[in-house]
Amino acid sequence: MNEPSKHRHSPLFVGPKGEYAEDFTSLWDHLLTTTMARRAGRFRHDPDWRPAQQRQGPHSAATIEAALEELLALLKEEIPTFSPRYLGHMVSDISIPGLLGHVAMVFENPNLASREAAMVASKLETDAINLLAEMVGLDPTPTRGHFTSGGTMANFEAVWRARYRLDHWLAMASFLRIEGHANDSLTQLAHCGWSRFEELRAETGFTDQDLMPYSAVLQGPLAADRRLREKLGEPWPEPVMLVPGNKHYSWPKAANVFGMGADAVWPCALDAHGRLNPESVGEQIDRAIASDRPVMMVVSVAGTTELGMVDPVDEVNVILQRYREDKGLHIWHHVDAAYGGYLCSTLRDDAGSCQLSQPVQRALNALPGANSITLDPHKLGFIPYACGAFLVPDTASYSVSSIHAPYLEKAQDVKFPGWSTTLEGSRAATGPSAVWLSAKVMPLNAHGHGGLLNQSLKAAADVHRCLEEASGPIRLLPAGDTNVVCFALAKDHDSLAEANQRTESLLSQFKASPELSVTRTHLGLGNYGDLVNTAVAQWNGTIDDDHLTVVRMVVMNPYLDDDIIVDGIKATLLDCLNRLV
Ligand SMILES: *Cc1c(COP(=O)(O)O)cnc(C)c1O
Repeated sequence: MNEPSKHRHSPLFVGPKGEYAEDFTSLWDHLLTTTMARRAGRFRHDPDWRPAQQRQGPHSAATIEAALEELLALLKEEIPTFSPRYLGHMVSDISIPGLLGHVAMVFENPNLASREAAMVASKLETDAINLLAEMVGLDPTPTRGHFTSGGTMANFEAVWRARYRLDHWLAMASFLRIEGHANDSLTQLAHCGWSRFEELRAETGFTDQDLMPYSAVLQGPLAADRRLREKLGEPWPEPVMLVPGNKHYSWPKAANVFGMGADAVWPCALDAHGRLNPESVGEQIDRAIASDRPVMMVVSVAGTTELGMVDPVDEVNVILQRYREDKGLHIWHHVDAAYGGYLCSTLRDDAGSCQLSQPVQRALNALPGANSITLDPHKLGFIPYACGAFLVPDTASYSVSSIHAPYLEKAQDVKFPGWSTTLEGSRAATGPSAVWLSAKVMPLNAHGHGGLLNQSLKAAADVHRCLEEASGPIRLLPAGDTNVVCFALAKDHDSLAEANQRTESLLSQFKASPELSVTRTHLGLGNYGDLVNTAVAQWNGTIDDDHLTVVRMVVMNPYLDDDIIVDGIKATLLDCLNRLV
């Protein structure tokens, strides 16, 4: 039996049973009192607003209270994501500072679409982006970025910008080839890089107007294709996006929304642990260039949605640097760190305490080398929904063709993102405010937020070990890079379909029992072939299905920093397994 650990992070969370309700209530009262006093003090000499019927009638406080009661009664049945028994999706309890920062901003309700509608909040957004930049190791001064409603939108922001950059270079390539100023292939020129772009502009004197007719973003790809065929006898080279097989479904969605065919998303292979195999990136780039398909972007994932694995971002950076230096090919690298980005906080100030493996640390330390990064404070940041963030290391990568501005608008030097530089129009300032307040209390380093995440990594390792020692046909996947634990059920010599059936039946029993929330994931043979084959070999099984079903547990709940709670969860898990298997 472990000694009870001290509550290092309390009272940063309300507690699964409201253990810190008193502290929280007093903070909450303070927030409300101050907010009301602010109203009373502003334009103090204006006349009072005198509601006609004060405390009766259909719109009285009593009616509101009754309706509120109804809502609260409905919410009793909501999934208890605040409980340490919740090991389901990538969500858990939100922190007290995250919640208070969110709510304080709700009362002001500014709109980040314009500085005129958000004077203080726009400054807070910049400050919060700078905090996130420092967390991932970026220099905040040149960093640009903004908050989004989540990781999906942040990934879309990356596609929008990578497409804009490639479109510039490809439009220039088309113009120069048609005018006889260049001999390189369109695809080669379409990866020329901004400094070569500027050199060519100086050498040949092309203007923005010259490029407009060849921009697929402006004219649409069909028109760009028609014009190229007419004037050069060549088709418009259709870009591809290289995305690892462990991708989040926001990537096929993005391709769909940006009008790229499904076959323009080329998968990169995974290794037996479900991480991107960097060699496959090189192979796919070579294949793309050889078949005249410009590479719009390469994506790697830091914290995969399925298994919480961290792709070797550092190795991808090295490969892309080699293409730049040896072949003059500049390729956009986006890191989808929606889940794992916050783990960078474990590396700041006291990396010695970091619970991540060395390769994962190297991968996370390589984030600043990417062209763009997605973060989701509403996952491992313990911030309320909806809160994602998009970061780029410099102004040039932030520029994008906007609706009102002319084509080839110069990169804006403003730090503040206006509506024309974000996909979303009206934007809440609750996310920046929550991130800002939370970081004041739990700095985004190993002594603050990182300490909390280290606890979660330890708890996940503990749950993994406990399952390793458990009896029964539990087949663990190799320990993950972060805090996701997955296992299947299979008896010796079970075929894959038999094992899947066993696991599915366990999952439906979990679903029916209120004791623990877990999720399922299907690991398809197409992407996860190596992993599935290795897993099935564990029990000498045969492959007769197209996927492996696993029970997935995201061990991110902040209350798992207490050994007694962890022991309780392990006991409940073993008990469920003994009964259900
Ligand atoms: C969660 C997640 C997303 C999508 O984020 P939302 O906030 O749900 O839109 C994208 N990529 C990865 C790797 C994720 O884990």
